[in-house]
Parts: sequence; structure tokens; C-alpha cells
Amino acid sequence: MPVPRGFQFFMHPGPTNIPQRVLLAMARPAVDFTAPEFVASRDRSLERMKGILKTKSGFLVTYAASGNGAWDASIANLFSPGDKVLVPTTGYFADRWATTARQYGLEVELVSTPERHTVDPDAVARHLAADNKGAIKAVMLVQNETATGMRHPVAEVRAAMNHVAHPALYLVDTISSLASYDFRMDEWGVDVVIGGSQKGLMLPPGMSFTAINARAWQAAQSARNPRRYWDWKELVEDGRQVRFCGTPPIAHFYGLEVSLDMIEEEGLENVFARHRRLANATRACVRHWGQGGGLEIYSLEPEAASDSLTAVIVPAGHDADRVREIASNRYGVALGRGLAALQGRVFRIGHMGDLNEPMVLGALAAIELALGDAGVPHARGGVEAAMDSLRAPATARKAPVAA
Ligand code: PLP
Repeated sequence: MPVPRGFQFFMHPGPTNIPQRVLLAMARPAVDFTAPEFVASRDRSLERMKGILKTKSGFLVTYAASGNGAWDASIANLFSPGDKVLVPTTGYFADRWATTARQYGLEVELVSTPERHTVDPDAVARHLAADNKGAIKAVMLVQNETATGMRHPVAEVRAAMNHVAHPALYLVDTISSLASYDFRMDEWGVDVVIGGSQKGLMLPPGMSFTAINARAWQAAQSARNPRRYWDWKELVEDGRQVRFCGTPPIAHFYGLEVSLDMIEEEGLENVFARHRRLANATRACVRHWGQGGGLEIYSLEPEAASDSLTAVIVPAGHDADRVREIASNRYGVALGRGLAALQGRVFRIGHMGDLNEPMVLGALAAIELALGDAGVPHARGGVEAAMDSLRAPATARKAPVAA
């Protein structure tokens, strides 16, 4: 390992960079977590989170746990052994959620999605239409499949469920999309949202949540799956979370207050626009590298390529992990690896959270150097293509801010 000098660029698709302001806010002594000041701050943040989820009717239940914990919570609270759920296959994370459901004794029916394509809402509708006994209790969709860098059609799947008038609950995992691009819990009819701290919210890993609406709360009343740590009935009173099973993640709440300040100061829609701009620049760069064959963006549907990360396929006979190793060891840029079947076949560039243009351009330049060193064929000049993508049209450019 070389001696690190200067900034090390952390370009993983989660966890992501933690802003100084958040780190400083978290560096506080322990407090009594039942004290009114802490409870007031916690409650304020839970209320503000509803703005990010675009919900008025849903409410959050948070856990001292990573995102996997929120998966467990959703399954433990909503279902009974033997219940059936429908999972559109999107990649590694949908597979893991399905495995979790099986481990809780659920029967999982998969809707298969062709590799490098988005979930087909009509296929979901066909499965539901064939379920004339109402055995399927829920559809579980990953909005942003972090393994492939693809966004899946949340509103369209809800429309398909409505089209066949199926009463299944709708659960959506937003772990790598929340606060990076749009999500509308109420408008899109999502009953349960799964979220985590360590991506768009710019916090360390270790806090996750489920947001639930009245239908989900109702379903939880008769569900018989075993649960303790996650039990909503223990954690919630009068439609809001009032306690934790054990000690809450106090420091995360201090950090969340500041990360919500930062998001609100920038404006949620501006946060989305920044993610889109940085994602477009990254995609322009990768497309340039891949001119004439070779490197490719994983998503074959341009509109479905994620704004929070880009998964890049390396040509056959080359090793994506070698590129990652060189990028990290020689140039100080950490990239995400390919997961499960995609290991060695893809590397993933995270571009979500606390990032700006020079960070992305710097990382892309280092990746281009690493591609050269690893002998992966590519067209040089990807960074120039990224810069072209970032050059605002003259009419849209704002006057420079005075120093
Ligand atoms: N769902 C998605 C889409 C994810 O990207 C991740 C983690 O990256 C998880 C679930 C699991 O979350 P965690 O690793 O925080 O347990």
C-alpha cells in the first residue's frame, strides 16, 4: 500500500462521504436519550424525513441497524409464516431481500427481469392477475439496484398493481436512491419504504428505517412472524415512534439533524439535479471510454441508468478488480466491486451524497489512468467528455457569485 497523500477519493456506492459538518455534529458526548432535548431533536428529524420521502400519511420507525435490519423489520412485522410475496429480480440486493423473506418462512415468487433491463410492470401485473385467491401478500421492489446501477419503475409497478386491482402491499427499498433522486411515497402508493443512513443521507452506516402507512400498520396487527427488536407495536404509539428496543443510535440522530439541514439548504430538487448532472458526466465519460467496443455502462436502457452510481462492465478477458486495485493503490480512488456473479466483471463508481464536480472529474481522471495501467482497452479523453457534459449552456449559466 502506498503512503496516502492528499485526499483519498471515496467513490463507493455506499457507504459514502460524510461531510465535515455531519462528523462534527456527531462528535458529542453521550446524553440521556430520554432527556427532553434529545427526544425533541429525534422527533423533529423523523418529521423532517417525511419531506424527503414525500409523505404526509406515512411515519418512520428507525432502528440501530444497517439496511439489512430494515429488511428484517419489514418482513417480521408484516407477514406470517407461509405467506407469499412477489419479488421482481433486479440483482444482488433483490435476491438478498428475497432470501431474507424465505428465512422468515415466506414463500417467494420471482418475476424475472432480463439482465441489464428494468423490471417490466406488465410482468408484475400478469403474476398478480394469475393470483385469483389473493395469496400474494406483497410486492417487494428495489428502486435502485446498487449491484447494477439501475433504477426500476416504482410508480409504474404501482399502476400495474392497481390495473389488476390486486390488494397486495407494496414495499420499496430506497436504500441507494433516497435523497439522490425522486421518490414519492404517497403519490406512488408505496405502503412500506426501506431506507438507510449511509448513502444519500451522508451519515455513517448503522441507522435504518421503515416508513409505513396505515395499510401496513393494519397488516402488522395480525401478522404472526416472530419479532422482538423490530416490533412496531413496541416502538410506536399513536402513529409515531416513541422508543427503541434498547439504546437508540444517538450520534446518528445528531448527524441526521445536520444532514437534513444540508439537504434543505441546497433544496431537495437541487440535490436531485446535482446527482443527475454528476451522473450524466460520469456516463458521458464511460461512453467515451467504450467507443468502438470495450467498456460499457451496465444498463442497456439509458433512462434507467442510476443517478447515484454507475456500474461499468469491463471487456471479456479483463479484470474489473485489477482496475479497482490500481485505482485505489496508485491513485487513491476507492471504487465499488462487482457483487456475486458480477465480481470481476464490473466496477462501480458511486456518485451520490456529498460530492461535487471536481471530485467526480478527479476520480474519473484517476480511473482513466488505472484503465491504462491495467491494459483495459479504452478511448482516452473520457474526462474531456465529462467536462463537456458539465459545461452548462451559456443561457442557463448563472452570474459568478462575488467573493
Ligand atoms: N438494499 C440496497 C439497495 C442496498 O444497496 C444495500 C446496501 O448497500 C442494502 C439493501 C443493505 O443495506 P446494509 O448494507 O446497510 O445492510
